[in-house]
This record gives sequence, structure tokens and C-alpha cells, in this order.
Amino acid sequence: AKVFIFQKQFDGLPKEGDLQLIEEDLPAIKEGEFLAEAVYLSVDPYMRAYAPRLPLGKTIVESKHPKYPVGRHVVGQFGWRSHTVSKGERHDSSTAPFLIPELGPDVPLSYFIGVLGMPGNTAYFGFLELCQPKKGETVVVSGAAGAVGSLVGQIAKIKGCTVIGIAGSEEKGKWLVGELGFDHFINYKTADLNKALSQAAPNGIDCYFDNVGGETTNAILSHMNDFGRISLCGSISVYNKNDRKVSLELFYLVGKQLKMEGFIVTRWLDRWLEGIQQNHKWIQEGKLKTRETVTVGFENMFKAFVDMLQGKNFGKAVVKA
Ligand code: NDP
Repeated sequence: AKVFIFQKQFDGLPKEGDLQLIEEDLPAIKEGEFLAEAVYLSVDPYMRAYAPRLPLGKTIVESKHPKYPVGRHVVGQFGWRSHTVSKGERHDSSTAPFLIPELGPDVPLSYFIGVLGMPGNTAYFGFLELCQPKKGETVVVSGAAGAVGSLVGQIAKIKGCTVIGIAGSEEKGKWLVGELGFDHFINYKTADLNKALSQAAPNGIDCYFDNVGGETTNAILSHMNDFGRISLCGSISVYNKNDRKVSLELFYLVGKQLKMEGFIVTRWLDRWLEGIQQNHKWIQEGKLKTRETVTVGFENMFKAFVDMLQGKNFGKAVVKA
């Protein structure tokens, strides 16, 4: 098996020498185990925030486990590795390998680490459950052109909201407004956020889905309407900074009586399939569009990871082994 291992803890933006690619001999599988081979690998922001433990879409190539037959596909947090021997149980704080549902031959396998996997369910549950959007309300999404954000904005449109997406390039803005149906786009790298928010949301903001934290979030708080809801999904703007202090204008949270809640998507593990099925239905109905930025080759995982952290991805960043 090919495996990426840690050489050094990340300091700032991850550097090539922080990880090392090694070859590892795998033991023969025992009763109750299966061997899986990577087909798609996912690079996600949380790997910078916590540790490089990656979910993979793998094919089971050998099995002595009744629940994981040869030929089926599993998604699991196995690490950055080409092959894995697993008992099918959860290890560390990860979730158990998930046998992907058979939704038909026209569903690309990579979707199960994207729109029909963790990012899709993050958008579905994290937005709908915490923001409780109502028809006619104004919703802001930061990190809007990424895996989670691009779906949140489209789900908000499905719910009849006015949607403002914030992301880091004009090209991303064209995609969000021109193809995904967002109502407004703000480029956080070039715009005066306060001015742009006043223009795009003259009646204030009711729901904010926060992927980035930091300055963008601070600017948004003062534009929230009373009793607005904020779903705190992530804070990628500070992941590469060693100083993790995130200042928030608590003043507005109090004065406007806002509801702000953080979440980890595994909160809805018992409803996982519901999220996948609903997102799949919206894809079939043409209401949810997805885009992937695919890097080919297991050995190019590091490049794919850093490209994603630097915003080179449109939609979900995946690696094809
Ligand atoms: P994305 O596909 O959105 O990729 C990351 C994006 O972040 C980049 O494309 C880049 O786009 C943007 N970005 C990078 N640096 C900055 C910065 N300094 N300020 C603002 N934006 C920046 O990743 P995901 O959709 O997978 O994840 C989005 C967020 O959701 C992350 O914060 C992640 O940690 C969080 N998350 C949380 C989960 C939970 O359970 N709570 C589960 C899954 C994800 P740009 O060009 O716009 O800068």
C-alpha cells in the first residue's frame, strides 16, 4: 500500500516536506476483515484543522467480513492510503466505514465523498436544521463556491430565499450567479464588504451559513436582522494561521438577539441516508448542480490538498487514485 505519513506538524500553509509518501506491506486479511482499494480520495479543510485523516471511496477487493462483500464500495476515514485492511469498525473519533447505498449506475462514485457524502449532508442538515430558512428570507453563505457552500446556496434557493454568496474570485461569482442561481455574489478579496452587503441585502440578513469565520463573519453580523440564525460550520480563514483567535462582534449577537450555533455533521448520523436521498432527488430533479475539481493520481494528494486550501477548487476537491 502507498501511504502518506506525517513528518512534521503543519505550520502555516502545509509544505511538501510535512508529509512523506511511503510503501507499506499489508498483512493478509483475517476472519472478520476486508481489504479495500482506493478509487477516490477526499481532501477536506478539516484535515488542516485537525489531522490528515481522509475519507476515501474504496472498492472492496477481498473480504472475510459478512457485511462488506467483494465489489461493493465503502467510504471511511482510513487515512491517506491506497489500500486498507479493515474490520469495518470505527477507530479513533472517526465514523465506521459506510457501505454506500446503491442508487443506480448513473450516480458517479465520487459523489459519495461530495454531494452524496459528508459535504452534502453538512449542507443539508447544517443549513436546514440550524438556520430554519423561511421563504422570502435573505441568506448569506461564505465559502460559497466550495463543496459545502455551493450546495447550501442552492438549497436556500429551493426553499425560496434570496441568496448572497461570498467567495474569492470573479470566475467563482460567474458560476454561482450564472449557473447555480445565486442572486448576488461578493468577492471578499476585492469588495468593501459592508458596502456590498448593504447593496445586496438592503432589508438585512436572516440566515448566515458560515464556512470561513474571521473578518467576513464580523462584517456580516452587523447586517443581521433581529432574531437571525447563524450556522457555524467552519472557519477556514484561520486554519492556516497559528493564532486561532477568532474575534466576533458579540455586541451584535446580544443586541439583535441572534441565534448562533456550531455543529459537527455527525450529529445527524442516524439520519445520514435521509440527507443522501434528498440531495440525490434534488440532483435528479435538476435543482442541485454539482461540480468537482479532480486531481488524478494518489501521489498528487498533497498538491490537491494545498490547492483546495488556497481556493483553486470549484465545488468538491477530489483525488482519483
Ligand atoms: P471548500 O470546498 O469550500 O474548500 C475550501 C475553500 O475555502 C476554498 O476553495 C477557498 O475558496 C476558501 N478559502 C480558503 N482560504 C480562505 C480564507 N482565508 N478566507 C475565506 N475563504 C477561504 O471546503 P468544504 O466545502 O469542504 O468546507 C467548507 C467549510 O466547512 C470549512 O470551513 C470546513 O472546515 C467546514 N466543514 C464543517 C463540517 C462540520 O461538520 N461542521 C463538515 C464539513 C466541512 P475562495 O476562493 O472562496 O477563497
